[in-house]
Amino acid sequence: MRIAVLIKQVPGTDNVKMDPETGVMIRTNKGNIINPLDENALEEALRIKRSREDVQVLAVSMGPESAMKAIKEAVAMGADGGVLLSGRAFAGSDTIATARALAAAISKLGDVNLVLCGERATDGETGQTGPMIAATLGIPVQTYVQRLEVADDAVKVERVVEGGFEQVKVQLPALITVVKGINEPGFPTLTGKVRARDAVVPVWGADDLGLSPEELGLKGSPTRVVKIFSPKLSRSTLLHRQDNTGRAVNELLKFLADRDIV
Ligand SMILES: Cc1cc2nc3c(=O)[nH]c(=O)nc-3n(C[C@H](O)[C@H](O)[C@H](O)COP(=O)(O)OP(=O)(O)OC[C@H]3O[C@@H](n4cnc5c(N)ncnc54)[C@H](O)[C@@H]3O)c2cc1C
Repeated sequence: MRIAVLIKQVPGTDNVKMDPETGVMIRTNKGNIINPLDENALEEALRIKRSREDVQVLAVSMGPESAMKAIKEAVAMGADGGVLLSGRAFAGSDTIATARALAAAISKLGDVNLVLCGERATDGETGQTGPMIAATLGIPVQTYVQRLEVADDAVKVERVVEGGFEQVKVQLPALITVVKGINEPGFPTLTGKVRARDAVVPVWGADDLGLSPEELGLKGSPTRVVKIFSPKLSRSTLLHRQDNTGRAVNELLKFLADRDIV
């Protein structure tokens, strides 16, 4: 069984900055981490690997060269290997173009039975990438999964839904997005770190995936960020002192009426 785990490198939470001119996230290499929910996805893959003989876990990431660190970390935690999608052609990709690239990589890996990813990334936070990859690959998807069990050629999952959970059985190959509560991610081991140091992780570009520049990056992205801004907080207080409650209420109503609020 081959499991692909999607690993996105994201800024540490206090490291997210936006360029107000272009609306694009300013990414620095400093303080980047594996998207926390992807660690849960990886841990789930490793749990399956520990419970069966024939499991290979591969970490797949799309990002700048610095995202290699995230794949190496995944290997240190127990993944068998991975692949990084990187290059100019990928820059500026929206969720559709990102999903297109990741789906092409999963196809190229071949014989992937299960794709695991986080329910959402802490930076973009759309939660669209997983379902879009499944749609591109034409495989079933189950989202918000808090429990998972592989049974022959299917996977039984428990999904968090409003007011409870639902149990679903899906045929493999399938894509599953996981929630935080599914497990407690493990830590890299010393032998894992040594393996990661020596691991040769291929870097695939657009050509390797058989995708044209028109299908990736800004050209392949129908989404346009029109404007991005941080909300400005302003607090101006008006204090009216009245001994008489009736007069105070009238004054308040006049204040609201003057501003077309009532
Ligand atoms: C017009 C536009 C331009 C953009 N330009 C850039 C840019 O130049 N550079 C840039 O970095 N971002 C850019 N983005 C953001 C980028 O599209 C998203 O970060 C990406 O599509 C993932 O979406 P998300 O962060 O909402 O992830 P979600 O959909 O919330 O993530 C869900 C899960 O999908 C998986 N996943 C998501 N992304 C990746 C990935 N890259 N590799 C592996 N697994 C992944 C992870 O498992 C993750 O937990 C741009 C977005 C738009 C709309």
